[in-house]
Amino acid sequence: MSSTPASEAAIGGALSPARGPSLQLADEAPTTAYAALVRDQLALLGENPEREGLLKTPERVAKAMGFLTQGYTMTLDDVVGDALFEEDHENMVMVRDIELYSLCEHHLLPFFGKAHVAYIPDRRIVGLSKLPRVVEMFARRLQVQERLTEQVAKAIEEVLQPRGVGVVIEAFHMCMMMRGVEKQNSRTITSALRGVFRDDGKTRDEFLRLAYTASR
Ligand SMILES: [Zn+2]
Repeated sequence: MSSTPASEAAIGGALSPARGPSLQLADEAPTTAYAALVRDQLALLGENPEREGLLKTPERVAKAMGFLTQGYTMTLDDVVGDALFEEDHENMVMVRDIELYSLCEHHLLPFFGKAHVAYIPDRRIVGLSKLPRVVEMFARRLQVQERLTEQVAKAIEEVLQPRGVGVVIEAFHMCMMMRGVEKQNSRTITSALRGVFRDDGKTRDEFLRLAYTASR
């Protein structure tokens, strides 16, 4: 069993941005156009795009940005595939310390950290390695941490229809660390709780305790 395109659409909207020409497609034109922009950007920074160290930078940046935003071309169907199984397990399933790297949509600067993802199945489980892939699918887009957290929770809810989902993300934002307030050690923590994780105090406490001990 796998999620249908309809379920992807249901959690869509902001989840699935319009698929325009993108850096990830085999079509070279977007990459060439992006590289041209980077060349202009270098000049506007007062640099000389023709100097040796920068000659290949525009193409490298275009390729790097293509990689860092490849989540736009991924769908839940691609990511979860047929790794859904019927199972009577009724306890919490949790994958902690999922590394994540994303780009903040306000500054196009990285934010990075960890996600802790848990759910309580309702007769359906997913291959464990798929949870990090769901995180990656949404992290490799332009993001704000709050939306990323919600999207991961919604996606798992859609695919598994579990009794509950909990997601905690803790991340460092380069836009805070390198500029503005220059707070090098402040972590931003966001959470999304659904179903029994929201409604049942014991489940919520167990999840949050596991999530927060994970980071120590
Ligand atoms: Zn930012």
